Amino acid sequence: MTGRTHDAAAITLLGVAVALYPIHSITLATALVAILANQIGGIMPDIDQPTAPFWRNLPIGGFFGRFADKLLGGHRFLTHSLLGAAAIAYLAHWLLVFISPLMPHVDIDLVWWAFIVGLISHLLMDTFTKEGVPWLLPVPIKFGLPPIKALRVTTGKFVENLIIFPGLILIDVWLVATHYHDIVTFIHARVGS
Ligand SMILES: [Zn+2]
Repeated sequence: MTGRTHDAAAITLLGVAVALYPIHSITLATALVAILANQIGGIMPDIDQPTAPFWRNLPIGGFFGRFADKLLGGHRFLTHSLLGAAAIAYLAHWLLVFISPLMPHVDIDLVWWAFIVGLISHLLMDTFTKEGVPWLLPVPIKFGLPPIKALRVTTGKFVENLIIFPGLILIDVWLVATHYHDIVTFIHARVGS
């Protein structure tokens, strides 16, 4: 999947998670940092790809991207597995605890969960592509949905661009529309009227 589909998928899954498990006490700062963390989590597994948006946006990202590509075993390998996701989540938690004194009004645990939701959304979305995802590494099998490869999505082609991406946006619009009152109440309570 492309970067923008992963961005949309990450925020959609976060929206679904919050709709299912409403959070009653959260500061505006936490909400904003959590959304940012969610978006980073959504593209994080593609650090194994030298051309990934994650690297493209850094000044010498191409160099580090090629290095990471070799180190992580090439595209759709370690970072696209449960084992890799657990390692990334562990490192992210360590980093968040380390920088938490800089963000006194931010609930680190909620930010971390939003990051993990983004991370999982990435693996889920890539599972629908032809390449599949090696969920259970070190078991070297790539899983895909549907199991028949020919029925899966080709990254960046019309099914992704015309069905999946707009579909995710529609889910977001529906989530906002059905929770509009809650969202307005949340913003009023925190930003003031
Ligand atoms: Zn990927």
